[in-house]
Order: sequence, then structure tokens, then C-alpha cells
Amino acid sequence: MQSDKSARIRGSGIREYDYLIVGGGAAGLSLAYHISREPRLAGKRVLLLEPEAKDQNDRTWSFWTNAPMPFDEIVAHEWQQLAFRSPEFEQVFPLSNYRYKMIRGLDFYRFVRAALADNPQFTWVQAKVKTLDNVAHRARARTTMGEFRAQYAFDSRPPIW
Ligand SMILES: Cc1cc2nc3c(=O)[nH]c(=O)nc-3n(C[C@H](O)[C@H](O)[C@H](O)COP(=O)(O)OP(=O)(O)OC[C@H]3O[C@@H](n4cnc5c(N)ncnc54)[C@H](O)[C@@H]3O)c2cc1C
Repeated sequence: MQSDKSARIRGSGIREYDYLIVGGGAAGLSLAYHISREPRLAGKRVLLLEPEAKDQNDRTWSFWTNAPMPFDEIVAHEWQQLAFRSPEFEQVFPLSNYRYKMIRGLDFYRFVRAALADNPQFTWVQAKVKTLDNVAHRARARTTMGEFRAQYAFDSRPPIW
């Protein structure tokens, strides 16, 4: 991962990328990881904008799957059977080829950071996006760390209710 100094600086001080990823949580980091693994996108310059350090285990994800996935090495636990218990009935069911897996948030954040660490395609800026809009056929993010533009923006900020 690069520091933002490597971005192309235009006369205006606006920093330009191919893709902006707004939010470095589950969706944003999954997208970044998959971009990093896609050879056809090897030349793309990607900026991740995330206000938090993501150094806390702020959540745990649990999910069903019947196939290997890229994040298997950070699975903290997986269940191969399901127990149903009630006062009248009790049975343990094998899950066949399905598994119920659990990943800790902090393990996921660290895993993706490590996977992107030596990849010069990616830049991480710790900043909060204040506005995201379109200007001159570019996506524009105004943030607490200045303005960034890109061909595409992928926004995973939680909705404001
Ligand atoms: C305690 C907890 C347990 C959960 N367990 C499960 C589970 O087991 N299974 C499941 O499917 N889901 C679970 N969820 C739901 C969970 O929110 C989603 O699974 C998942 O994290 C959503 O991914 P996301 O990328 O949309 O949001 P997040 O992972 O929340 O990522 C959004 C990111 O956007 C960033 N952001 C916010 N505002 C801005 C801004 N202005 N500018 C830039 N970045 C910004 C945030 O800091 C955050 O990092 C759980 C949630 C919580 C809180």
C-alpha cells in the first residue's frame, strides 16, 4: 500500500485515482481484496477512504457456506453439525457439505491490510468522506483530508436514517 504522496497531483491539488472505495469495512475491504486478485485490474489505482483505524474487534461475522473461500485461513471457528434442543425433542444433525463459519472483524481487517501492504496499486487514507458526487465525469469525494477524484466510486457508508 502506498502513502497518498504517490497520487498524481494536478495543479489544483486534487488527487486522482481510477477507483475510490469509500468505507473500509466488510464491503469495502472485500472489494479491495478481490480487485487486488484480479489480473485484469492490475493497472488500476485504488484509494481506500476510511475514517477509523480498524484496529478493534468491533464485530464478528458468522455465515453458511458449502465451498472454500478466500478468507478461510482466518476462520476462527466452524461448526459441522447443528443441535436442535427443546423440552420434548433433541437431535444433532450433520451439516453434510455445509459449514457454519465465524470470522472476527479484527482478523479480517488485518488480513486484508496485510494482503494489500506491498501492492502499490492501493492507497489508504484515514479520512471521513463528507460529500460524494459527480463533477466533470468523475466521482468526487470531499473528505477531512482533502478532495479526491476517480473514474468510479464504490460507496459503502452506512445509510443515514
Ligand atoms: C456487532 C455486529 C455483529 C454483526 N454480525 C454479523 C454477522 O454475523 N453476519 C452478518 O452478515 N452481518 C453481521 N453484522 C452486520 C454487519 O454490519 C455487516 O455484516 C457488515 O459489516 C456490513 O458491511 P459494510 O461494509 O456494509 O459495513 P461496515 O463493515 O460497517 O463498513 C462500513 C465502513 O464505512 C465506514 N464509514 C462510515 N462513514 C464513513 C464516511 N463518512 N466516510 C468514509 N467511511 C465511512 C465505517 O467506518 C466502516 O468501516 C454485524 C454487525 C455488528 C455491528
